[in-house]
Amino acid sequence: MKILVTGGAGFIGSHIVDTLIGEGHEVVVVDNLSTGFKENVNSKAKFYEMNIVDRALSKIFDEEKPDIVNHHAAQIDVRKSVSDPIFDAEQNIIGSLNVIENSVKYGVKKLIYASTGGALYGEIENPPADENHPISPISNYAVSKCAVEFYLLVHAKLHGLNYTTLRYANVYGPRQNSLGEAGVVAIFARQLLMNEQPTIFGDGSKTRDYVSVFDVVEANKLSLTKGYNGIYNIGTGVETSDKEVFDIVAQVVGVKAEPKYAPVRPGEVNHSSLDSAKVGRELGWKPKISLKDGVANTVAYFRKHLR
Ligand code: NAD
Repeated sequence: MKILVTGGAGFIGSHIVDTLIGEGHEVVVVDNLSTGFKENVNSKAKFYEMNIVDRALSKIFDEEKPDIVNHHAAQIDVRKSVSDPIFDAEQNIIGSLNVIENSVKYGVKKLIYASTGGALYGEIENPPADENHPISPISNYAVSKCAVEFYLLVHAKLHGLNYTTLRYANVYGPRQNSLGEAGVVAIFARQLLMNEQPTIFGDGSKTRDYVSVFDVVEANKLSLTKGYNGIYNIGTGVETSDKEVFDIVAQVVGVKAEPKYAPVRPGEVNHSSLDSAKVGRELGWKPKISLKDGVANTVAYFRKHLR
């Protein structure tokens, strides 16, 4: 199949591209390199440097006529969405709408959308949250990701678009931005490898559900042919605290270290974990990589690629 991957120069998208190419698919990447890197893009993929907001996106659809669109391009910084909600909405809502409209216009068979379970449910009442948990965003990023889920639903009803929405927990792994605001495994790994003292925002008891990027890629692969018009959590159901993650990364790096502590930042939930039973039943997905193995793999990558 010919698959257009938006955000294919980024952390998750680039791993998806590698796997799709490995499976024999033809892959086209659209990415504006705002947080992605050209060197992440598989050399066998065709690359277009473009903002998904750009109306000229239709020319790429017209030229390439993809069978499937895998939509990962987004501004992912929760803090940025709080300080500049208009920028967040332009990139994440208008940009996604441009991708969706073109998918309908050019007869795309399926659109796979990267949403967020980590942010959408807000403060989870009784973790882990399944897909029926009330949606209760506490950041503009979560609002924009949620708005796109509804646009997909409406485009399915109005125009017969087929989609699969994957609500990821906290994804980690090689190529994650270690200089960003989010992605503590990558940030702690880089800082500890460089003998810097990492900062934990809060008292270390905030919890997240960490899922390996390689398990996430597998969910995207299964979504090529399964899960029509379904919404699925992609997580492990296991809560790990910030301090526990810090300790695992420090152990793998092989240092004895203590973090600094700073006040919690706005827009962050205290506890998050996702129930992924539905995707297990309907797509046959389950997480295979333990946090310890995934961290080892990530640290090994950062030992070689400190930017
Ligand atoms: P990332 O920043 O590494 O990847 C995003 C990619 O999209 C980058 O290559 C960036 O250059 C590109 N991009 C951003 N805005 C663009 C635009 N307007 N036009 C074209 N390209 C653009 O982040 P990631 O962690 O790989 O996230 C990928 C997707 O997964 C995002 O949609 C994000 O919301 C979603 N997601 C990620 C996580 C996580 O834990 N990392 C969790 C839930 C959902």
